[in-house]
Amino acid sequence: TYFDFNEMMRFAIEELQRTSEKHQIKEDLQEIGLVFADKERLSQVVTNLITNAIKYSPEAQQIIVHSSIEGENILVCVEDFGIGIAEDDLNKVFEQFYRVSGNMQHTFPGLGLGLFISSEIIKREGGKIWVSSKEGKGSKFCFSIPRARANDY
Ligand code: ATP
Ligand code: MG
Repeated sequence: TYFDFNEMMRFAIEELQRTSEKHQIKEDLQEIGLVFADKERLSQVVTNLITNAIKYSPEAQQIIVHSSIEGENILVCVEDFGIGIAEDDLNKVFEQFYRVSGNMQHTFPGLGLGLFISSEIIKREGGKIWVSSKEGKGSKFCFSIPRARANDY
């Protein structure tokens, strides 16, 4: 169905902002308008990424959520300034049940499913999801999806 993309983004951000007083989620949202896609699932992806940004930045307060139109696509990025991800783990974090090993496993409980599910959803929407990160500096997760889907489902 068609839905207002920014309304979905703002709703997700507002819900998650309430879960952490410590973090400041900064909105950098270009007006995108109506989008034909699966609203619930996209909102789940945005929620997963922001939840991770909060969870994996115990010291840093700032989280930046960006959205923009890039040609035929919508680009969404969630950036944090937290623990970051080592280069060797970068390409594995989207795998099912994958969690970066070390102290982190006790400090931050989880199943290692959020990113796997997110990447499955984005694939289904005909898009891409990726990450850039520096250990100890922070991470930036982005996805892009076509603004108008070619095939219905
Ligand atoms: P859950 O299933 O509850 O989401 P999870 O957060 O461990 O558990 P994913 O969201 O799939 O699982 O993330 C996989 C792994 O990638 C995490 O365990 C963590 O090691 C790493 N990771 C994900 N997001 C970040 C981030 N923003 N900063 C640093 N590491 C991250
Ligand atoms: Mg997670």
